[in-house]
Amino acid sequence: MSGEMRKIGILGGTFNPIHTGHLLLAEYALDAGLSEIWFIPTGQSYMKDEKTVLPGEDRLKMVELAVADNPRFSCLDLEIRREGDTYTCETLEQLKAMYPEDEFYFLAGTDCLDTIHTWKGPERIFACCTLLVALRGETPKEWMEQKKQALEAAFGARIQWLPFLRLSISSTEVRERVNCGKSIRYLTPDKVVYYIEEKGFYREKGNRRCGTDA
Ligand code: NAP
Repeated sequence: MSGEMRKIGILGGTFNPIHTGHLLLAEYALDAGLSEIWFIPTGQSYMKDEKTVLPGEDRLKMVELAVADNPRFSCLDLEIRREGDTYTCETLEQLKAMYPEDEFYFLAGTDCLDTIHTWKGPERIFACCTLLVALRGETPKEWMEQKKQALEAAFGARIQWLPFLRLSISSTEVRERVNCGKSIRYLTPDKVVYYIEEKGFYREKGNRRCGTDA
């Protein structure tokens, strides 16, 4: 694109694996006025238990498969390729330096309002982007407004709300269903379902704690 300012949504995530909730969130963000969404699988995270997280290359491949048929979605490997721990502030500064004419919106759930001040460099994050918080209907509006004002005062944050659905799909649910031999069809795109099956991901042999069937 030449000289035209784009509003780019950044959806960072462990994506272990990517699921329909992530894709719907991205689609709702487009509908709210963003031009495109860039999915960025995390590299090494200092906040995650690495034992349960697949290698970056595998999570990246699943995101690539999931977004391939949407021309306004893309997948970036810059965190996967980075040595050491993954920090959102570094990613956003890198993107801002590469695309200074564009506006960035970091997509997140409401929990982020309570945790982002503990992430590395919150003021650096907010210098690069607007935080676009998905409202899933479970959090009191008053609490969110208080958190928003506190982040604005402390870090010069720009925060906007994105009305969304109350969807309890999670990567944990997908992994547990695979491990129990249950279907994950429709929880994630078919191509991702086949890839997980083909590679045998999330099958912890001899460690199946499956409840009784409904
Ligand atoms: P994740 O579990 O893979 O999820 C990715 C995003 O999708 C999250 O914002 C998550 O919000 C949202 N999501 C998941 N399921 C959803 C559903 N059913 N409906 C709507 N939204 C849904 O990602 P993550 O491991 O939490 O990481 C998120 C991002 O935060 C990453 O870019 C990571 O690098 C960043 N982060 C950075 C730091 C740091 O720089 N110090 C620290 C922590 C995280 P919810 O989390 O609300 O479900």
